[in-house]
Amino acid sequence: MAYLQENAQIGVAMEVFYSSTRNQNEKVTASAAILKGLSDDGGLFVPDHIPALDKTLKELSAMTYQEVAYEVMKLLLTDFTEEELKNCIAKAYDSKFDTEVIAPLVEAKGAYYLELFHGATIAFKDMALSILPHLLITSARKNNVKNEIVILTATSGDTGKAALAGFADVEGTRIVVFYPKNGVSPIQEKQMVTQKGANTYVVGITGNFDDAQTGVKNIFSDKELAKEMEEKGFQFSSANSINIGRLVPQIVYYVYAYAKLLAEEKIADGETINVVVPTGNFGNILAAFYAKNMGLPIDKLICASNDNKVLYDFFETGVYDRNREFVLTTSPSMDILISSNLERLIYRIAGNDAEKNASLMAALSGQGKYEITGEMKAQLKDFYGNYADEACTAKTIKDIYEDCGYVIDTHTAVAAAVYDKYVADTKDEKKTVIASTASPFKFTRSVMNAIDAKYDEMGDFELVDELSKIANVAVPNAIEEIRTAPVLHDHVCDKEEMKDVVKKFLGM
Ligand SMILES: *Cc1c(COP(=O)(O)O)cnc(C)c1O
Repeated sequence: MAYLQENAQIGVAMEVFYSSTRNQNEKVTASAAILKGLSDDGGLFVPDHIPALDKTLKELSAMTYQEVAYEVMKLLLTDFTEEELKNCIAKAYDSKFDTEVIAPLVEAKGAYYLELFHGATIAFKDMALSILPHLLITSARKNNVKNEIVILTATSGDTGKAALAGFADVEGTRIVVFYPKNGVSPIQEKQMVTQKGANTYVVGITGNFDDAQTGVKNIFSDKELAKEMEEKGFQFSSANSINIGRLVPQIVYYVYAYAKLLAEEKIADGETINVVVPTGNFGNILAAFYAKNMGLPIDKLICASNDNKVLYDFFETGVYDRNREFVLTTSPSMDILISSNLERLIYRIAGNDAEKNASLMAALSGQGKYEITGEMKAQLKDFYGNYADEACTAKTIKDIYEDCGYVIDTHTAVAAAVYDKYVADTKDEKKTVIASTASPFKFTRSVMNAIDAKYDEMGDFELVDELSKIANVAVPNAIEEIRTAPVLHDHVCDKEEMKDVVKKFLGM
């Protein structure tokens, strides 16, 4: 009987619905979840089941990035037609990327670096944000939405630019980006404040990323404002990594990386690999976890943190505690104390129990901490957490460069350093993919300082040219563009003023 039931599901694509991590009763389609971003109760949308890959690894190994993207996304975005999905994929993964393979794998010093930074803004956020606008517009059409969609985003540096680039001049949308005024790299800031597009608005806030993120969440759950917006023909959506329209496209590159390793005979069919992810908001590593649950042979999910090591402490102790000093590091996109996407994992290890999850999240927003049960902690065996401090991160950049001439960025270096710790701890020799989340050109000063203190004297763009020389890599277009671009956004506000800023931009 069990046998028959199991088999009955093979080949029958079951529709996937999404419900909130804080309320199981309301189920929505994928397109509705993408449109809303965040559920009304403040929870995150999660799939009611995780479908298995329905192509073999061998079949996937013969596919292009775009083809793999379709095979993965069709399983989770089940209310999109084949034509709709393929259209979105074709528009996203095109010549905006500077390589046809979209996400190349580079072998260096005993690991495979999955370079996720070949898109328009040279960070991994492009992998999802180049497709999100198309998924969103398609979702709006499917759900007969006539309102103009207002994307509201808090950024620790990379999401903001990638979202701006994705949504600039997309008809029927506007985008507002908040970033911590003193918490992003000079190149990140320049990239954002030079953004073109009449529908774009960039604001620095006097606060850190968590302030920006909390401010955005508050605006989203402001019922009165939502009503006012509706009357004026607007509705909010989110480009933050809480949107499943970002999470799902991120699963693709893990499947693709495995398929490429198989195609190049670096691994045998079915061989398990480890994955290391430099983590902030827990979106990227959660996508790897979903890939594993779809049947991709991944063993350990190695979660790498910088000095803001709230996740490392969580994996060690089962206590998530944000009550600590917020540290500004050279890997600013990981300077985060509230990892939003972790809620999806908490919900899952609570046995898909929305009530239990909601009470933990209430503790987080009330006391700034919560503790999971032993039973929940026992389900975290797939994960290994560790962290790298600033000195260790810098040394890793220098070591890898001196070892093989390969230059990695500060975020990727946190992952590489943690991978070294993992191997020293466990002696595990499985083949390992390290998510390389940004181009070193995005964090040039920190990268060059790590290699040699003498570079400290040079100007930002001088350093860019020097990096190009020593790494033997051409300066990416994204950097060339901002050398001389005029500043178009110079707005700064207090974290309390965020709502007013949004209303003003919308003419309300
Ligand atoms: C956003 C970002 C991260 C963190 O990814 P999460 O999905 O938030 O965990 C790491 N590195 C870079 C370069 C990023 O832009």
